Amino acid sequence: MGSESVKVVVRSRPLNDREKALQSKMVLSMDLERCQCFIEKPGAADEPPKQFTFDGTYFTDHTTEQMYNEIAYPLVEGVTEGYNGTIFAYGQTGSGKSFTMQGTPVPASQRGVIPRAFEHIFETIQCTENTKFLVRASYLEIYNEEIRDLLGSEIKNKLELKEHPERGVYVRDLSMHTVHSVGECEGILEQGWRNRAVGYTLMNKDSSRSHSIFTIHLEICSTGNGHDHLRAGKLNLVDLAGSERQSKTGATGERLREATKINLSLSALGNVISALVDGRSKYIPYRDSKLTRLLQDSLGGNTRTLMIACLSPADYNYEETLSTLRYANRAKCIQNKPRINEDPKDALLRQYQEEIKKLKAIVSGQLGTTNNYEGRLAKLQAEYNAEQESKAKLQEDIAALRLSYESKLSDLELQQLEQAVVGGEQVRNQELRWRHQQRKKFADQRQVQLIQALSENSEESENVLFNVYNSIQEEVHAKSQMLQLKAAKLEIRDLQGEFEVERDDYLATIRRLERDGQLMQSLLERMVQLVRRDCNYSNLDRLKKEAIWDEESATWRLPEVMVQKTTLPSEQEEEDRYKEMLNRSDSENIANSYFKSKRTAQLVIHSSALYNGMSHLSLSSSPVNVSISPDSVMPRPFRLESLDVSVSNGKIRRKKGKSQI
Ligand code: ADP
Ligand code: MG
Repeated sequence: MGSESVKVVVRSRPLNDREKALQSKMVLSMDLERCQCFIEKPGAADEPPKQFTFDGTYFTDHTTEQMYNEIAYPLVEGVTEGYNGTIFAYGQTGSGKSFTMQGTPVPASQRGVIPRAFEHIFETIQCTENTKFLVRASYLEIYNEEIRDLLGSEIKNKLELKEHPERGVYVRDLSMHTVHSVGECEGILEQGWRNRAVGYTLMNKDSSRSHSIFTIHLEICSTGNGHDHLRAGKLNLVDLAGSERQSKTGATGERLREATKINLSLSALGNVISALVDGRSKYIPYRDSKLTRLLQDSLGGNTRTLMIACLSPADYNYEETLSTLRYANRAKCIQNKPRINEDPKDALLRQYQEEIKKLKAIVSGQLGTTNNYEGRLAKLQAEYNAEQESKAKLQEDIAALRLSYESKLSDLELQQLEQAVVGGEQVRNQELRWRHQQRKKFADQRQVQLIQALSENSEESENVLFNVYNSIQEEVHAKSQMLQLKAAKLEIRDLQGEFEVERDDYLATIRRLERDGQLMQSLLERMVQLVRRDCNYSNLDRLKKEAIWDEESATWRLPEVMVQKTTLPSEQEEEDRYKEMLNRSDSENIANSYFKSKRTAQLVIHSSALYNGMSHLSLSSSPVNVSISPDSVMPRPFRLESLDVSVSNGKIRRKKGKSQI
């Protein structure tokens, strides 16, 4: 089984109106023939531009149509043959990821990769002879490590990742939609896109921080030599979250809280790529995020993968653009081993095909061969013998059963099943077939050209060195070494800068998480005292010990809430009454203690300062802090009789038997 590397192309958007108005300079340039991309550091004219080579370079005026035909076409065509394929769009926010994947309807040449893939797949399906296809689509989003179904009935529901020995990693309960035409696919894409927007408004989210994956699942059944040949292909179309470093965004307040949260999936994607490329690491951290688990096959697996790195050409985006170029450059070295998915175990098409065969047999009069029908018939006959009922009536029953069985299965189900599959409708459409072949040919030619250009690149640079060596060997040798040294030094400095920014991001996130953790701990410590003593949720330490981390669903499994009644019924009532009363007095304390004498406040502060767990709380004189009563910081007595509190009975409403958590 041959391996092939991940294909990587870069695409630069034009300067936008704002950048033009600000007279931003372009720092990017490209040699389209040689697929090279150059980036100049603003204000550093003495530094040579950095140079990268990819499988394709697309500059500001190139169209998505060109890019699709040259590089995406063979990958998508492969999916219709039973390979898996993945196309990623990577880049900072505003660099053109959605423009590339989703695109705009006008001009037609800028329609996105996703709608183009729909068209392409259905064109191939319609031109393929003796083959039936089952096409299904799904669309999901990962935001903050939570997966949501963009085509589900409840987009707020979080879905879980599951692993199956044969199917691999999959999303449980993700809705699958059978599609028969380009129009239906477009409808689904639009529906998901709308749901995404609704989700952002509802949940106050930021669209740049989410990853979306549109997947087209194909099952392919070709008939030849009398038997069926089953294959399955899957195309993932991924619009990744913005790759920008969060600590640089200059956000404040709420935005900063949000901004410093590391996008775990995106960091994990970078780590997976680095680990795959660094030949020394045996362990690839796929399990670190939802995105990398879902797309494990696309990176170092059995999938053909294309990464489209989207770039901003403006000078103020230099750092991000360079970082994207480096990321893309690393991804080039990942090796995959694509293979056709033959005879998939869980193929729906196989089930459909078998059902159809069975139904056809029934319809064509070979009745009674199916076990089910035979069984029922035998049962009826046994009943006939046993009960000696009238022969005529039983025959009537049998006839009725046969009739309803036939009509139900043959008319309805056969129709439904046959409608689910598509293929071969345009086999006789010469023009469509010719166009299809032309596009295939074009993509193949482009591949040959590309390989030639790349080999010329390396030959040329070798020749240059060779010639020069002959003439002024020593001088050049020394000079080239100097140059290499200078370039390496610059590279080290840049990389160090990049790592520092990255580290700042991690540290900011750790600090924020620590603060969040402290807040939760403080809240819990107060709240746990409001929980009745005979409930297991009144003991935090025990709960922490009993809680179990579930790796599979990435959630904590907590113990069930339990109340253990240990007191006699009459005492229990009394205790409930006191607890109710205490709860009320806790909330009333906030108002009362505001007017408490200074002495009381001092005592309160003194006692709370003694309490270790609270030592990090600020003890300012704000009403809320002063309200830390000795009762709330000292362990509350279990025997409530010892409390010297008197309350009139009339004030208390009793809630018997209800837990007061
Ligand atoms: P992203 O999804 O990466 O955040 P968008 O795709 O939304 O970025 O692009 C940002 C803006 O730039 C949009 O207004 C888009 O129309 C424009 N744009 C992006 N790429 C191109 C391009 N190649 N040609 C013309 N306009 C583009
Ligand atoms: Mg976008």
